[in-house]
Amino acid sequence: MSHKYVYLFSEGNKDMRELLGGKGANLAEMTKAGMPVPQGFTISTEACTQYYKDGRKINDEIQAQIYEYLGKMEEICGKKFADPENPLLVSVRSGARASMPGMMDTILNLGLNDVVVEGLAKFTNNPRFAYDSYRRFIQMFSDVVMELPKPEFEKIIDQKKEEKGVKQDTELDTEDMKDLVKRFKAFYKENKGEDFPSDPKVQLMEAVKAVFRSWDNPRANVYRRMNEIPYDWGTAVNVQAMVFGNSGDKSGTGVAFTRNPATGEHKLFGEYLINAQGEDVVAGVRTPSPISQLEQDMPEVYKQFAEIADRLEKHYKDMQDMEFTIENGKLYMLQTRNGKRTANAALKIAVDLVHEGMIDEEEAVLRVEPQQLDALLHPQFDADTLKKATVVGKGLAASPGAACGKIVFTAEDAKEWAKKGEKVVLVRRETSPEDIEGMQVAEGILTVRGGMTSHAAVVARGMGTCCVSGCGEINVDYDAKNFTLGGKTYNEGDYISIDGSTGNIYGEAIPTAPASIAGDFGLFMGWADKYRKLKVRTNADTPRDAHQAREFGAEGIGLCRTEHMFFEGDRIKAMREMIIADNTEDRKKALDKIMPYQQGDFEALFEEMNGYPVTIRFLDPPLHEFLPTKEEDIAEIAKELNVTVEKVHEVIESLHEFNPMMGHRGCRLTVTYPEIAEMQTTAVINAAINVQKKGVNVIPQIMIPLVGEVKEFDFVKKIVVATADKLIADAGVELKYEVGTMIEIPRAALTADKIAADADFFCYGTNDLTQMTFGFSRDDAGKFLDAYYDNKIYESDPFVHIDVDGVGRLVEMSAKAGREANAALHLGICGEHGGDPTSVEFCHKVGLDYVSCSPFRVPIARLAAAQAAVKEKRA
Ligand code: PEP
Ligand code: MG
Repeated sequence: MSHKYVYLFSEGNKDMRELLGGKGANLAEMTKAGMPVPQGFTISTEACTQYYKDGRKINDEIQAQIYEYLGKMEEICGKKFADPENPLLVSVRSGARASMPGMMDTILNLGLNDVVVEGLAKFTNNPRFAYDSYRRFIQMFSDVVMELPKPEFEKIIDQKKEEKGVKQDTELDTEDMKDLVKRFKAFYKENKGEDFPSDPKVQLMEAVKAVFRSWDNPRANVYRRMNEIPYDWGTAVNVQAMVFGNSGDKSGTGVAFTRNPATGEHKLFGEYLINAQGEDVVAGVRTPSPISQLEQDMPEVYKQFAEIADRLEKHYKDMQDMEFTIENGKLYMLQTRNGKRTANAALKIAVDLVHEGMIDEEEAVLRVEPQQLDALLHPQFDADTLKKATVVGKGLAASPGAACGKIVFTAEDAKEWAKKGEKVVLVRRETSPEDIEGMQVAEGILTVRGGMTSHAAVVARGMGTCCVSGCGEINVDYDAKNFTLGGKTYNEGDYISIDGSTGNIYGEAIPTAPASIAGDFGLFMGWADKYRKLKVRTNADTPRDAHQAREFGAEGIGLCRTEHMFFEGDRIKAMREMIIADNTEDRKKALDKIMPYQQGDFEALFEEMNGYPVTIRFLDPPLHEFLPTKEEDIAEIAKELNVTVEKVHEVIESLHEFNPMMGHRGCRLTVTYPEIAEMQTTAVINAAINVQKKGVNVIPQIMIPLVGEVKEFDFVKKIVVATADKLIADAGVELKYEVGTMIEIPRAALTADKIAADADFFCYGTNDLTQMTFGFSRDDAGKFLDAYYDNKIYESDPFVHIDVDGVGRLVEMSAKAGREANAALHLGICGEHGGDPTSVEFCHKVGLDYVSCSPFRVPIARLAAAQAAVKEKRA
């Protein structure tokens, strides 16, 4: 038997969503449950995949099955396609495995032509309705299938209304509708050079093709990338008998949710329009009435609908989003699906469903998207204003949240303006450590260059500040204090709004609402913690961040980037002196200045993390982020080091690197200048001894970055151990400490067995590991990755979601080899992937002990880790 590509609604069920798509599976389920569903069939996702395999063609076998099922559908409905006596009209709608609202295409009223429309007019005794449906069909088919711009048709309608001197579509009569049909067809012919297709079978096949095609349209591709929906899933197509909400005042159409999708309140929520079709509700041509009004308008229908809604919710055990149509007083269900909801609603619904006894805690944990928690932790735009706002540009969604403020171009201005009470958005070509204080006071940060692991992105995420990075279309003129974007100039002081969750940039003010953690949050997160196996630590460099992370439930610090401790105030000067020093004596002097800062911070971190491990990573400054650029800074360093300004310039010149990310950083610095490791070890151990005396339970872990060879690790470890053991012995105390390494260079992963024999722990630095495995610069990849997505070479940014096949393989192999060589080895991850839900799931699968991420992502990681454990248990 040939392969089955087409299924009647009566042949499927809700568990067949891979094959039938979400919509098809749910239509089948409602059919099975005896609900009033207009009948039809689903063309499977396999047919879509086949369509692409066949070079975007529907092959003969699939075409034959579609026509065969059309015949079966005619029998079930007692109507005939293309038959003017008793015409069957259909809707053709997409339906992927995961719901992608509004991303793909829909065609309604298909099956009409000049002859059938007359039949429909007679059959329904309603010629206005028949011609209204016909003109709607031509409009939609031309737009969706033939790609003629929709606004052109709207213009024709507006023109017609103007000629008639009326305002509403409903005021156009049969003759007007007939005239619109004529005008639409003429417009079609003029633009397409051929007549509008009049054969309904041709219309059907073209419409199916259009839906398949829409799987690959740019907005679907972007949506898929954002929601991690694989391209190879394909979409199903549903062909369903039309019922007409536009057939008079006893008809209508609407959308409703079983609970409020914004708040989670347990009350039917939605709206409907009398005498209208679905697209009218969406297009907003008329203002719909709230669903509660239906109780007055059509009490019987309302009662039936409310009962069905309740049944559906109990059946699916989740809030349902339903579409319905009323045709001459009879209710039809067109769709049901688990409804999209805000983060607050998601939490409330999950908790309520447990309290109502509908689901258990384990199931509830799966009901909230981890990424959604962002919305509870960061400010969000006012939804109504956002709807009306225009996107003027797009960058990378580097750090979530919404920001609105006046444009400033320097960190100093940001500070000054903020002091005066202004809200500012800091716009920079890229950021560097000297911008830190400006970044701290800004509502948001927008950069021209830099990827998801660039300085701006990493630091902003750490602070919980909204950031859009790498918007290459922006042209900044620092001198004129303005930038251009999309042909428009934005000056200092102009309002701008940026969305760090989508990367969208708006050239206007959009009010924001502050973050609001709902009452159910603590309870819900407690459930998540019961199930997860992975520990969740934080990447924190300051006591303030560490404190924030503890509040979000962090169980230790997985990465303290010690070079980040020098971003603020005078500290960067000491750091620069250290870098610029060209002899050991000067370097030691600079290190002596650095040490008290370090020790003080370490003490504070240890105190914050009392009882939890604190991993301190030794200096790893990519030089380009730390070298001074301003003349005044250079002059100051010259004075401090007692050398000429020219000399400092010379040193800076000599330190210039073509590829600083692969340059003299990480343990390479210590190999050249062992005194750095001595100083840092002293600061860590002295800090630990001090806080231990105060009764703090301290677990220091020293982490050596950028190791690629075990001898390199051993070289640094020897210095650490010698320094630490002497300090501990001199102090006459007992103190346990560990020395481990980052695995962030492919060579380290490949020689993991050797390194593990000497190391106490591995922590995967997947930012660098991704950079070096792909050979993609962390700072520059954003510029060309779009072409990789467009050409389906990569589906998502490997700096955001771990590349399971390549980088992931290195992680898995080296973790296994490491544990075989050293059973006590513990394993974590501290690259940005540590806070990304899919990457967290991967970390769970390969058996890491912990993930570490920026403070504001700790709750996300906790939930993602719990979901990974629950899914594994259920698999
Ligand atoms: C990494 O490379 O993944 C890492 C955590 O270190 P950094 O981002 O500081 O290079
Ligand atoms: Mg690194």
